[in-house]
Amino acid sequence: MIERHLAISSVVSLPKTELDALLAGLRHNGYQTVGPCLKDEGLVYAGIESLADLPRGVISEQAAGKFRLVQTGQERYFDIIPGGQSWKQFLFPPRLTLFTAQKDGRWRIAPDGEPAPRYALIGVRACELAAIEIQDRAFMREDYADPIYRARRRNLFIVAVNCLHPAGTCFCVSLGSGPRAERGYDLCLTELDDAFLVEIGSELGRSLMTELACEPASAYLQNAANQGLEQAVKQMGRHLDTSDLPQLLAGNLDAERWEQVGKRCLSCANCTLVCPTCFCWDATDHTDLLGKVTRRERVWDSFFNPAFSYFAGGNTRPAIRSRYRQWLTHKLGAWKEQYGTLGCVGCGRCITWCPAGIDLTEEIAALREEVEA
Ligand code: SF4
Ligand code: SF4
Repeated sequence: MIERHLAISSVVSLPKTELDALLAGLRHNGYQTVGPCLKDEGLVYAGIESLADLPRGVISEQAAGKFRLVQTGQERYFDIIPGGQSWKQFLFPPRLTLFTAQKDGRWRIAPDGEPAPRYALIGVRACELAAIEIQDRAFMREDYADPIYRARRRNLFIVAVNCLHPAGTCFCVSLGSGPRAERGYDLCLTELDDAFLVEIGSELGRSLMTELACEPASAYLQNAANQGLEQAVKQMGRHLDTSDLPQLLAGNLDAERWEQVGKRCLSCANCTLVCPTCFCWDATDHTDLLGKVTRRERVWDSFFNPAFSYFAGGNTRPAIRSRYRQWLTHKLGAWKEQYGTLGCVGCGRCITWCPAGIDLTEEIAALREEVEA
């Protein structure tokens, strides 16, 4: 009976136990279901089969250079703010074989023939949806689209989750990328005490929901979800003034603040590896001892790695100060001109996972203060 009422943009309530049926439905449609799981006192994105695999009753406390899991004892599955991993690993894997070459009289090249996997990502936050949208602009340009990324992207099913408990390092509100998921999902959940509120975002999402025991969402539940999101906006841990970032950064390349942050930064590249929008990579060849078989791999890289900036016999960014400056001036400045948007979605990962506790919101505020002094 519910089927007649379901449409794209319908909002329904779903008993929490029905999430198992949704996951089973996705697997029946050929998807690998991937979601947040606890592992080694951290949070990773890995294969899940049921509610039992999700981190029930756990939140993460996050600050600059700090991540800690805390048990709440509550019956919530998506309260935890993600850790160092992001979904980019499923679209732009950290290590991927591009082709293999074999010498058999002459070299024969065999491209990687693996079909693109079909992932259903469960629990994608609004900021993470925005990050996927940003990577789409980089990898699926009109003039050239990365075939590996495009094939994986076309196979993706996204179950988003509205964020009700931001962490201390979050600032998605400043970037307009959260905490409410506005677009880019097949289904979007808001987790309330007794049920999920589900917004339908695609035809496949609609068709899967018709198989589940969902009901039209009551005004009471919708109101509770809206109030939770309003509260989340007020709880944002950090703020970033984005009003004039490209000009501020491009106009102050010699500021003293770059020297100061250059002395603290370890050039470890953590910030770029955890960032859901960063896309630097390198191609490396692995050849067997006889020199007859070689495999070319694409691996994540970072301009914090000194070798990344080595051109024509010299390093264009020998000082850590210049590498850190490149990170901010690209992400919060030049990116806007290249892709029409800033390269940051305010997820806070680079702050949480920086071993030196460097916080880009503090760096921008300090730069602004120096310029205005
Ligand atoms: S720069 Fe930092 S806060 Fe912004 S998207 Fe990347 S990891 Fe998240
Ligand atoms: S800013 Fe922090 S995470 Fe990034 S390279 Fe420097 S020390 Fe590492």
